Amino acid sequence: MLIAENHQQQLVRAETARRSQNYHCPQCHAPVILKRGTTMIAHFAHQPSFDCASFSEGETAEHLQGKRQLAAWFARSGYRVQLEAPLPALHQRPDVLVFGVNQQPLAIEFQCAPLSVQRLAARTTGYREHGYRVWWLLGHPYAKGVTRHGKAIKFLQFAQNWGYYIPIWDVTCGRLTLHYQLANVDFKPLRSRQIQFTSQVAVQRVWCWQPSAHVIVSPVTANSEAAIMAGRLGANHQLRQLQLECYQHGGSLQQLPAWVWSTQVRPPLLRGSGFVWQLAIFFKLRRCPVRMSSSQLRTLLMTTLRPLLAANACLWPPACHSDQLIDGVIKTLVAFDVIRWATDSWQLRPVQVAWKKH
Ligand SMILES: [Zn+2]
Repeated sequence: MLIAENHQQQLVRAETARRSQNYHCPQCHAPVILKRGTTMIAHFAHQPSFDCASFSEGETAEHLQGKRQLAAWFARSGYRVQLEAPLPALHQRPDVLVFGVNQQPLAIEFQCAPLSVQRLAARTTGYREHGYRVWWLLGHPYAKGVTRHGKAIKFLQFAQNWGYYIPIWDVTCGRLTLHYQLANVDFKPLRSRQIQFTSQVAVQRVWCWQPSAHVIVSPVTANSEAAIMAGRLGANHQLRQLQLECYQHGGSLQQLPAWVWSTQVRPPLLRGSGFVWQLAIFFKLRRCPVRMSSSQLRTLLMTTLRPLLAANACLWPPACHSDQLIDGVIKTLVAFDVIRWATDSWQLRPVQVAWKKH
């Protein structure tokens, strides 16, 4: 930590602290040690093995430096910032708290250490419930994890002007790399764009300060040859598993109607391929009545989607994002004439949920 409390309960920065004085953690009030050497920037630390709810991770040089850079970055853009602001009501202490005019304060977390999705969710929810926005920036241990199954994906965030994005902060050059417009294209690696900002850039260029609304990733459907797609899935264990599932439903992968193999660009929220989801929908629709209300159809699609969603803790509200997947797949079903809207309900076309003849 960069700031501790002296015996008069004043907050003191490590670079100006006196070695002769005693300092305490502003959150748990345990004594902390001033560390001012040559390898790391001046900071305070709890006694080794002491368990503090706010500073339990053991800070690295990267983390200490990063939060100082981020505070300076926002301050240069004219915002009032507070480093390591104690928030007693939350038992949380954001790395940097940023105050804008007429806006909820923004808690910035610069994450370098491993963090479970449960802890991430608890901390994110804590901020939201107490009226703070939160922005997670990731350190270099996460830089190579921006893939569909990488460890960074649970930090997936959304902003109107960037779409789905993951921000990486590089302390060696004080630079933000934004992986943005992240999207899944079935059978392909995670799609993304990258843009870099140095810490000299005004924050406004990066952070639009608009409340997030959801974006529609326009579905692109394409009819593809089943054999090619099967090849792309690979002659792997998963494919054999899916083939087995088809056998259990009285058909095979080769007999699936074209729409099940269709691909589209989707929000990067699924753990696996969209094909697996569409296959689950196919099985489910085969056992459905031919007429369904709009809400019945959405419930059915959500039932098939839920087990396939990737663990994520930073998107808010979660339902708004999964709704986009549902909207996308409904468009596919309509495009392939699997369902038709008739007066007041969806009508299922049985031929589209039947196995193709050999
Ligand atoms: Zn403490």
